[in-house]
Amino acid sequence: MKRKLGPSTTAIHGQPARRTDWTPVVAPLYQSSTFTNPVGSGEEVMYSRYGNNPNQLTLAARYAELEGAEAAIFVASGMAATALAHLAVLRPGDHLLASSWIYGGTRRLFEEEFGRFGIEVSYVQPDQPRQWRRMVRKSTRAIFVETPTNPTMRILDLTPMAQIARDGGFALLVDATFASPVNFRPLEHGADIVITSATKYLNGHSDVIAGAVAGSASLVEEVTRLMQLWGQAIDPHAAWLVERGMRTLGVRMERHNVNGMAVARWAEGREEFTKVHYPGLPSHPEHALAAQLMDGFGGMVGLELKGGAKAAERFLRRLKLVTHAPSLAGVESLISEPRLTSHRRLSEEQRGKAGIPDGFLRLSCGIEDAEDIIADLEQALG
Ligand SMILES: *Cc1c(COP(=O)(O)O)cnc(C)c1O
Repeated sequence: MKRKLGPSTTAIHGQPARRTDWTPVVAPLYQSSTFTNPVGSGEEVMYSRYGNNPNQLTLAARYAELEGAEAAIFVASGMAATALAHLAVLRPGDHLLASSWIYGGTRRLFEEEFGRFGIEVSYVQPDQPRQWRRMVRKSTRAIFVETPTNPTMRILDLTPMAQIARDGGFALLVDATFASPVNFRPLEHGADIVITSATKYLNGHSDVIAGAVAGSASLVEEVTRLMQLWGQAIDPHAAWLVERGMRTLGVRMERHNVNGMAVARWAEGREEFTKVHYPGLPSHPEHALAAQLMDGFGGMVGLELKGGAKAAERFLRRLKLVTHAPSLAGVESLISEPRLTSHRRLSEEQRGKAGIPDGFLRLSCGIEDAEDIIADLEQALG
């Protein structure tokens, strides 16, 4: 049996193979929309919208290895990955059971767009796991969840959903963007499809928008077919950049994990914060589960600042190193307020109910020196 490589090695080499002499160590960028094809051949042509450009193919194979999947495909954004993965398993008249703790863009996709395809969506509160089975209908064809969740960093046990999906013969789709395959691989826990925004940890440098879907070969084939027709192929240059970013995924995640933990521990000792949301802290509601399922707790930390929106704004204006910007998981620390970004469509009361009161800050710890991140946060507390 072939020896299994670790995630850092896999992120750099994929399946390593001996190279012939005088080949470039770094994969060349094929910035070409089209390629020559043999006269008279009935084979599929090589064309970058088809997802068969060499940069697209290399990247997909490498990511599939990391997730432990048969196959994967990269597309132009995390949202494209979410949309295509669902369209691959749902038909008009089907029902989708979704977690209510999901990315705002995904929620809008379900609520504003899926109706036009005759797809019904209902939402389960994941802290009431019995609801999953109770809410399954005859027409249910898929379950969708996100873990860790944004921005409260809750960790979901996939076991009950995986069992229900298996019993019903339908698919479990998991968006694990906040973990990266270094920290958590949903396919090892019963998921059928992994969705990731490669914009985040996979690329890790805040300079690319991209997404990926991994799963069985037949599923990825269907996602590829849809992508060719609906047109969300990843640009070869973006694919090349994600591949470059992924080469440091292992060491970046190591540092994100260390920094997330250091910042969370520091914040928990400060009276200015009423609550700190981080799965690595014993105070986290799923700390034990997270420790069991995950190889690291990541760099995302939720902070509840005393004094609500006003205090949050004062704090954000004082920051020098930590940058006020949406998005996450890059080498630089970023901070944002869910009340104005992902959850701005909710009322103050709804946000409170969702566990995101005003004053909630979502911090993406970068890979700077932890002491410097902490010193910046500390001086901003005033
Ligand atoms: C950012 C994000 C997305 C969307 O990804 P894009 O690359 O911005 O389209 C989806 N899910 C989660 C959890 C995200 O954080």
